[in-house]
Parts: sequence; C-alpha cells; structure tokens
Amino acid sequence: MQYMMPIKGGCACGAVRYEADAEPAFSLICQCRQCQRISGSGHAAQLALPAEAVTLTGEVKFFALTSDNGNLVNSGFCPNCGSPVLKKSSGVPQFLFFHAATLDDPGRYDPQFVAWNSSRQPWDYVDPGLPLR
Ligand SMILES: [Zn+2]
Ligand SMILES: [Zn+2]
Repeated sequence: MQYMMPIKGGCACGAVRYEADAEPAFSLICQCRQCQRISGSGHAAQLALPAEAVTLTGEVKFFALTSDNGNLVNSGFCPNCGSPVLKKSSGVPQFLFFHAATLDDPGRYDPQFVAWNSSRQPWDYVDPGLPLR
C-alpha cells in the first residue's frame, strides 16, 4: 500500500513527532519477548524507515535491551506520555523501526511478514496468511 508522503506520526501526547520522506523498506509484526514487553501485548507492529529519511522532533528517551538474537536494541519512548514510538537495533543501524499505531494514518500500515514467531504467546493471533521469518 502506498503511503502519503511525507509519512508522519507521533506519540499519544504529541511531544514526540516524526516525518519521513521515504516509503518503508519493510513492515513486520514482531512477536519477540522485547516487543511483548515494550508493547504490553503479544507483538509489536512496526515499519522500518530508512534512518536518513527520518526527522524526529521532541525529546525521546531510549531504553536499552538485548534482542532474542543478541543485538542491542534501543526502545524509544516519550518521557511525558510513555508511548513507545520507535526502536533502533544495532544489527540494522540503517533503519529506524516505528510502531505502526504511532502513524497519523495507521490504516496504511501493511505488514509483510511475522518475525520471532518462535517467541509467540499462545493467546496472540496475527494474520495466518503472513509468512513467518
Ligand atoms: Zn508523548
Ligand atoms: Zn521484536
């Protein structure tokens, strides 16, 4: 699905905003334990935007954790409202992973695959037509 350019989004209170002048490189639903903890849910729906195409405004606080495959991951959230906004992974520094529901137009989000299905919780259901990676 085509996005409206630039892609825009932000946190719940509006203190953190972002814009990107590029289509997402890919979009995924991640069921890893870290995304479970960050989202408070069974998975995180994310889109990977080229880091150099992103303009981020407002204060973002980063919390460092280790991914299921050993990469250092930083979860970025708004210190005012607590909304998780994006993730950075040391394994793929060229991308910033934004949480899909932070988009101003989240209906355009179109996940392409499921990651870390091996960490899935038995109560977490996603589109069974999506390939697992
Ligand atoms: Zn906020
Ligand atoms: Zn994850």
